[in-house]
Amino acid sequence: MDLQAYLQEADAVERDGSAALESAADTAALEAARIAVLGDRQGRVKALQEALRSISKEDKPAAGKRFNEARTKLESLHESRKAALSRETSGKPREDLSLPGRKAWRGAKHPVTLVIEEIEGIFRELGFTIALGPDAETEWYNFGALNFPPNHPALDAHDTLYLEGGGLLRTHTSPVQVRTLQKFEPPIRVLIPGYAYRRDFFDASHAPAFMQIEGLCIDEGISFVDLKATLNVFAARFFGAAKTRFRPSFFPFTEPSAEMDVQCGICGGSGCAACKGTGWIEILGSGMVHPKVLEAAGVDSERYTGWAFGMGPARMAISRYGIPDIRILYDSDMRFLEQIAGSAGDR
Ligand SMILES: [Zn+2]
Repeated sequence: MDLQAYLQEADAVERDGSAALESAADTAALEAARIAVLGDRQGRVKALQEALRSISKEDKPAAGKRFNEARTKLESLHESRKAALSRETSGKPREDLSLPGRKAWRGAKHPVTLVIEEIEGIFRELGFTIALGPDAETEWYNFGALNFPPNHPALDAHDTLYLEGGGLLRTHTSPVQVRTLQKFEPPIRVLIPGYAYRRDFFDASHAPAFMQIEGLCIDEGISFVDLKATLNVFAARFFGAAKTRFRPSFFPFTEPSAEMDVQCGICGGSGCAACKGTGWIEILGSGMVHPKVLEAAGVDSERYTGWAFGMGPARMAISRYGIPDIRILYDSDMRFLEQIAGSAGDR
């Protein structure tokens, strides 16, 4: 081989070898490229070295110099590529397969949601369906249609959250009773869960926004007997209560009205801290729907009668789960919610 051909061959080995080494994407590809370029047995550098023997004596120094340049360059390229690939690998987090697995985080239902679903389940079996309505209401739906006199203290700005433009945040879920009566012909049996809003301070037993659940039953010939019978079935199912009692009360939208108490499940009626020594726990307000409410919703009060009740599922969750402060229900504290979720899952 003459010098000219040898130098051209050296250029080609250097060019091809550089490309092969630089394009190696991982350590395995780099090792394959190293064997092909710098390998002791079949590498192209080795072949170039052996070709030196065929160079004439006077050309050998020039050819040898070119060979050394090409080999040095390819060797250093290999080293730098190897170092770069090793840096890339060590930058990635390495799995430690000996670590224990991470426990999957499971969501769960809020205690108030659990109580509402349980109440809904009981009333569904008694033929009730669910009705919903808007949280922002007009004064007529919230008060007027429900027989609140215009000077009733509940209408006071100190008690109600009024909106700009004359609306308000409903102070109870009862406007949905009126909306349901306007929309459907009796017989009607609906359960109405939803938020209600009042200008209450946020303390151990009050919240400015709270869940309420109401029931409404309207048909021909419905009497107070139906109210008592249905609510007694509910109390027995939900509280396991053997005894209930009805106390006369007053609401603008029912006549007559009654508060229902269940016998305290903790002391069995002898009196304890949970029932404040009375032996009874107040759970809901109820009554026969006032004829004026039926008329306001366009229902013939001569033909139809019915009853309604309303209760606070947060209060019921508190007594069911022994929660000391209603604010815990709004805190989103996972340690508390996980306890309830766990105990609810066991039941
Ligand atoms: Zn008690």
